[in-house]
Amino acid sequence: MSGVGWDAAPSVASWPGLPPLAGDRSADACVVGLGASGLAAVEELVDRGLSVIGLDAGRVAAGAAGRNGGFLIGGPALFLHDALDRWGSCAVDLYRETLAELDRLEATLRPGIVRRVGSIRLTGLPGEPRDEAEQADRDVEVKDCDAHAAALRRHGIAVEAYAGPLGQGIYLPDDAAVNPAVRAMETAGRLEHRASLHEQTWVEGVRSGEVRTEHGAVRAGVVIVAVDGKLGRVVPRVARRLRTARLQMLATEPVAPGRLPCPVYGRWGYDYAQQGPDGRLYVGGGRDRFVKAEWTGSVEPSPQVQRYLDGIAGRMAGAPVAVSHRWAASVGFTADARPLCTEVAAGVIAVGGYNGTGNLVGPVAARAAVALALDGTPPAPYLAP
Ligand SMILES: Cc1cc2nc3c(=O)[nH]c(=O)nc-3n(C[C@H](O)[C@H](O)[C@H](O)COP(=O)(O)OP(=O)(O)OC[C@H]3O[C@@H](n4cnc5c(N)ncnc54)[C@H](O)[C@@H]3O)c2cc1C
Repeated sequence: MSGVGWDAAPSVASWPGLPPLAGDRSADACVVGLGASGLAAVEELVDRGLSVIGLDAGRVAAGAAGRNGGFLIGGPALFLHDALDRWGSCAVDLYRETLAELDRLEATLRPGIVRRVGSIRLTGLPGEPRDEAEQADRDVEVKDCDAHAAALRRHGIAVEAYAGPLGQGIYLPDDAAVNPAVRAMETAGRLEHRASLHEQTWVEGVRSGEVRTEHGAVRAGVVIVAVDGKLGRVVPRVARRLRTARLQMLATEPVAPGRLPCPVYGRWGYDYAQQGPDGRLYVGGGRDRFVKAEWTGSVEPSPQVQRYLDGIAGRMAGAPVAVSHRWAASVGFTADARPLCTEVAAGVIAVGGYNGTGNLVGPVAARAAVALALDGTPPAPYLAP
């Protein structure tokens, strides 16, 4: 019962792999990390006519990009009303950029990979509250959900009330679901003939004009480092600005079709699940319940969090359900929840720190990194320079 549930998809299971870097090379640009963010940077750079070398320590999307909940949700990690309070109106700009990124993704991947089914924010979890504390928390969350919906409406973002078999909350019709590993593999497959992409190539360090790896050095005028939770290890200069956390998930055996019509996140967004086309539930959460233990660079699932997720899986399924896979991955958190997009040496841009919601924000930050490197365009205020 270990391994990543998403990897059973045929296009992932049959991924032929990419060759490691072989000796010293040079290119106009080098991208470190081939998750969704790094691949967006590769795409942006080759679209501009640059020669690009892309490197990953493991497989494409070996990190969080291939191991996450597969929620493609508009906006930042914070709910919109909270982001507006903390960052001001630029939070709406980021929201719009993520929806544009989602449209782009849907248009570039094969039909059906991005499932434009919307998402549900539930107040609490499916089913009746189990005790008074859960009821009290849900009552508070109802008010927060109202504030969330009001902020969305005020800024012209689609939102509807949700009341149904799962409980109550709001429905966001623009959002979508994906198998995140399939998404990354498909993207890498489209790019591998336009860029020189290499797996199993550990990057030891970066500096202006050079990326040092276990298999040789890459000389490049532009270097984009897109390794999110591992950013502090590759670029020690940003280590103090970014904290690495472990997030955990599980996959269940198939349950009744249509149990979850779309990605569902409940209890302030801490617990979440989507039902894949294979009928399995992909369930994550609980980090707020185990905060201290989850500030770690380890990617081993822990018994405590997994036990908690067993309970969430049962709530999401509506009945106890057998688990088929368990896994974890690293993400980067920042102090004010704004992702980093920062030049750390001449021509070297580091991006990361998506606070657990980087499927769309990561590519937005990566494209901003390319604009900073090539055009000198300062990152928008929703990114921390
Ligand atoms: C369990 C879980 C659930 C999540 N759910 C969601 C969700 O539903 N929606 C959402 O938007 N976000 C979610 N996130 C967050 C999201 O997965 C991340 O923000 C996003 O995937 C980051 O992607 P990335 O490409 O920037 O970095 P990553 O995918 O973290 O890393 C990119 C690559 O860098 C490589 N790398 C690392 N170090 C080195 C090195 N030294 N040399 C070379 N390569 C290196 C890794 O192998 C990896 O493939 C979740 C995260 C987790 C862990």
